[in-house]
Amino acid sequence: MHAPEPVTANWGFPTKVWFGAGRLRDLPVAVKQCRASRPLLVTDRGLAALPMVADAVALLAEAGLHCRIFGEVKPNPTGANIDAGVAAFRDGDHDLVIALGGGSGLDAGKAIALMARQMRPIWDFEDIGDHWQRVDTSAPVPVIAVPTTAGTGSELGRSSIVTDEARRRKIVIFHPIMLPDLVIMDPELTTSLPRVLTAATGMDALAHGLEAYCSPVFHPMADGLAVQALRMIREWLPRAAEDGNDLVARSQMLVASGMACVALQKGLGGMHALAHPLGAQYDLHHGMLNAVLMPYVLSHNMPVLTGRLADLARCLDLPHHTDAAVLDWVLALREQLDIPRSLMFMGIDHSHAEQIVAAAVVDPCGFTNPIALDRENVAGIFTAAVAGRL
Ligand SMILES: [Zn+2]
Repeated sequence: MHAPEPVTANWGFPTKVWFGAGRLRDLPVAVKQCRASRPLLVTDRGLAALPMVADAVALLAEAGLHCRIFGEVKPNPTGANIDAGVAAFRDGDHDLVIALGGGSGLDAGKAIALMARQMRPIWDFEDIGDHWQRVDTSAPVPVIAVPTTAGTGSELGRSSIVTDEARRRKIVIFHPIMLPDLVIMDPELTTSLPRVLTAATGMDALAHGLEAYCSPVFHPMADGLAVQALRMIREWLPRAAEDGNDLVARSQMLVASGMACVALQKGLGGMHALAHPLGAQYDLHHGMLNAVLMPYVLSHNMPVLTGRLADLARCLDLPHHTDAAVLDWVLALREQLDIPRSLMFMGIDHSHAEQIVAAAVVDPCGFTNPIALDRENVAGIFTAAVAGRL
């Protein structure tokens, strides 16, 4: 099989992307290109203690850029996290955010940059209707995103997911200016990720590509990105999980996750609609929840995807070019990556079923599910996913 060599490249779609192994070293140039000099580096607690963060700060210091770290972000960032980050940003008189991490570090960094210049509470900018137009855009804070996982794709997205602890809900905060000004995609930063997280984050990218592909919204450009991302994930996710130091596999997965995230402007579906309330209730990994939910949601949607999934099977070069082949592939990947077979294996039962289902039905991510979601069918999917019944 042809294995492309890792390359270095600069891209402008949909924002500036500096791609290549070792590109973290270009961080000081990136800050200066954004006309900033006092960056705040936002990351989660686990990463804050790792050498990659110390290296980044040292690189910036060598270039005369004084950088402080806000490393208090929780795995599922909360409104309180964002408030504390905004306070740190204002106290330090910062002029740029470096959002470094997986979904939590990236989403928190983007949200802190957005909120740094707002007077209204963050929940006023939930992705509902035209609420995004409430944002004061007169003095935007630039963001440089540095992903350390290949999954969320948030580095190329225009929203953040923030948990409202009081309501136990995950809220999508959206605004076009949340798209980072520059992304440094350095696959070396993803090599230390353990196998279970490589699998879980990779399955999140797969969920983005698959749900975007299945969304009924007309957007052939996004379809193209979704299909190519899924092709790359099919080929490289098992290799990245098997050998975390395979830089080719890590490179391909990092690009694929970004592409899948760009594709999701076409919309998502039932996997994310359910993963959000489950993540808020049980504080579980977002990617792993999507991975477990995937076959149940796909199976529910199959009756209206006739032919469309067969097309995807052909594009993915699956053994059979049928609708069912896509589900078979997902199930085989579940085995290969040791993804739990049901929500029950993740400690989820029916004790909060009613509120989970109610929240999933109103989650904006579910509005583009190929079959309109209502309490009845979401309850059916949830029950099947808890029991592991396909
Ligand atoms: Zn996701």
